[in-house]
Amino acid sequence: ESSEYPPLAIESVSKHFGGITAVDDVSLSADVSEVVGVIGPNGSGKSTLFSLAAGGQKPDAGKIRLQGIDVTGWPTWKIARTGISRTFQIPSLFLNMSVRDNLLAAAVEGDWKRARERMESTLEMLEISHVIDNLTSELSGGQQKLVEFGRVCVRDPKVILLDEVTAGVHPNIRQIILDAIQQLRKTGITFLVIEHDMEMVKEICDRLVVMDQGKVVAEGDFETIASDSNVQQAYLGR
Ligand code: ADP
Ligand code: MG
Repeated sequence: ESSEYPPLAIESVSKHFGGITAVDDVSLSADVSEVVGVIGPNGSGKSTLFSLAAGGQKPDAGKIRLQGIDVTGWPTWKIARTGISRTFQIPSLFLNMSVRDNLLAAAVEGDWKRARERMESTLEMLEISHVIDNLTSELSGGQQKLVEFGRVCVRDPKVILLDEVTAGVHPNIRQIILDAIQQLRKTGITFLVIEHDMEMVKEICDRLVVMDQGKVVAEGDFETIASDSNVQQAYLGR
């Protein structure tokens, strides 16, 4: 099915914390199957933008639309059900529970048979079926990142937001994540990824959005961005 509306549209959103403007009038939309990279120095507002999009925090101004539906201010669970799901920079796992239970807990309400099927196909895709009965606390940091990604996949979202999911992981796990993104996008899933790994960004992103001090300072394909003076300034400091 096709829609005239993008899966995700962020419209002029802003978020302040006391005197800090973490996100400053940001607009950004993403198409079906598109992978958009969100890059920028630490503190530039990337994670906060994800919170606003996924409903973890409410914007002070602006709107979030999912497939044209204005979900601004909706509770997180309701936004999640509408089809957007995110990972956290620090995995938000139940460490004293098994991998299986972490994924089933995320698959939430509804049909248990379907939830189990989604769990199994997700574990297979992420190559962690062999640790299904392990306590999550027993896994390596990289495997925990895969479980965090898996918790998003089992919710069957249309839009997935990945916050530094490859940071610090072994190259094998990085490759698993990369392959999973490629596989999922073919099924029509849209991605926004916060990444510091420029090789990864170059490989998977159709388009990049660069943030600095809460604002979008550049947008375009990898080559355009790599030669943009605003981008160099954002990274090389002021
Ligand atoms: P990034 O993910 O790009 O590193 P963040 O979105 O985490 O940036 O942070 C953007 C700015 O907002 C930073 O100055 C950060 O300290 C501030 N910030 C983020 N979350 C909060 C919060 N809950 N309370 C206060 N300040 C915050
Ligand atoms: Mg961050």
